[in-house]
Amino acid sequence: MADLYLYSSKSQKKQLFVPLDPEHIKMYVCGPTVYDYIHIGNARPVVVFDVLYRVLRAIYPSVTYARNLTDVDDKIIDRALEKQVKINDLTAEMIEAFQSHVAALNSLNPDVQPRATDHIKDMIQMIERLIKNGAAYQAEGHVLFDVSQDDTYGDLSHRCLDDMKAGARVNVESYKRNPNDFVLWKPADSSDVGWDSPWGYGRPGWHIECSAMIQHVFKGPIDIHGGGIDLLFPHHENENAQSRCALKYDNLAQYWVHNGLLQVEGTKMSKSLGNFYTLHEKLQEMPGELIRLILLSSHYRQPLDWTENRVHQSRQTLNKFYQAVEGCEEDFEVAARFENLDSDFAKALLDDLNTVAAIQRLQDMAQEILVTKGSHKKEMQKKFIASARFLGFLDLKPEDWFHDLTGIDLTVEQIQEKIQARSEAKQQKDYQAADQIRNQLQAQGIALEDGANGTAWRRV
Ligand SMILES: [Zn+2]
Repeated sequence: MADLYLYSSKSQKKQLFVPLDPEHIKMYVCGPTVYDYIHIGNARPVVVFDVLYRVLRAIYPSVTYARNLTDVDDKIIDRALEKQVKINDLTAEMIEAFQSHVAALNSLNPDVQPRATDHIKDMIQMIERLIKNGAAYQAEGHVLFDVSQDDTYGDLSHRCLDDMKAGARVNVESYKRNPNDFVLWKPADSSDVGWDSPWGYGRPGWHIECSAMIQHVFKGPIDIHGGGIDLLFPHHENENAQSRCALKYDNLAQYWVHNGLLQVEGTKMSKSLGNFYTLHEKLQEMPGELIRLILLSSHYRQPLDWTENRVHQSRQTLNKFYQAVEGCEEDFEVAARFENLDSDFAKALLDDLNTVAAIQRLQDMAQEILVTKGSHKKEMQKKFIASARFLGFLDLKPEDWFHDLTGIDLTVEQIQEKIQARSEAKQQKDYQAADQIRNQLQAQGIALEDGANGTAWRRV
């Protein structure tokens, strides 16, 4: 069995992954709040944990990957009000968009995608347990988690409670015993969205949602809990505290895996700076496979800088991948097992998902294939295809990749008309006009290739 090493934010070390039960791996990743299209930063954990899921599936006989959908939240309520639509209509539309956008990134569907509103009962039950265990209290219609009752609170995110107190804002809500206490249940007006509970009509806090759904899906502690590094505190710290105190676990998860954040051209993405991009927008500009490569082109724990240059380089990389497999479509269905992969490529992934090294290895393999002739080439291509597809690349036939016009303001018919016009110009010996057409197409991202059977075109 292959040895996987993973960095855990809890231990702050790269560790050999030792599952609770090697027959069944359990992974949970915090999913989106469905009030709008996700931004490209939130697409990163989708792809990163998809890679981890693929690696785990290649090693272990059974893996359950759960990713939740937060479909109750103040942001959702505000947005529905603003757009004058029903909350359920808004969340249904956003969930559908999310599923189709992440599918375009060649991400496998998690095995379970629980929705918060389907688990209000589980949340209420967990809050009742917390109250019974002395870890939660009621105040002014709220139920709060009492962080002083969890003696390891702060250990996951490596924060000291005293430091947190000192740093807390002066305006702590009157109903909190400690500034770090957090809401498990909050009251709502009867006209607002809410549910009946033993503490009156209201809504759950955000953190309790994940703890309750993890318990519902896995019935116990899990191997891996994932999400963006911005979720480490307070979200994951609070999830861990709730599950520990309600269910008497030592830890909710054995390994806490976090991806770094995404910035754009060296700057934090923000709507006010005009550099805020949704995945939906980017999918209008470029194929999902390209976005996937960009998102994996920096080690998952490092920040990822989304730049024009990175987009360009990544497209060139994929062009090379597809060029290396032109003409060998029958080899595309190799099973995603480690024994079928290139060994250096597999080694890189097992080393804390080093996708940078794995992609570099794919590039080297593609380069070798392009300069190799003879029977050896076929074997190399087979290994290359198995490896690239393992990581979610080479999803298309090469001709479909090179003829993908996403983000280009040209249709196939228009390109063919231009090729026809160029050939007529050449026949009339008007080489200047012919070159002009070629150069115009090149500037739009289309390269022409003259061959024995006429002129072909491809996206560059
Ligand atoms: Zn969560």
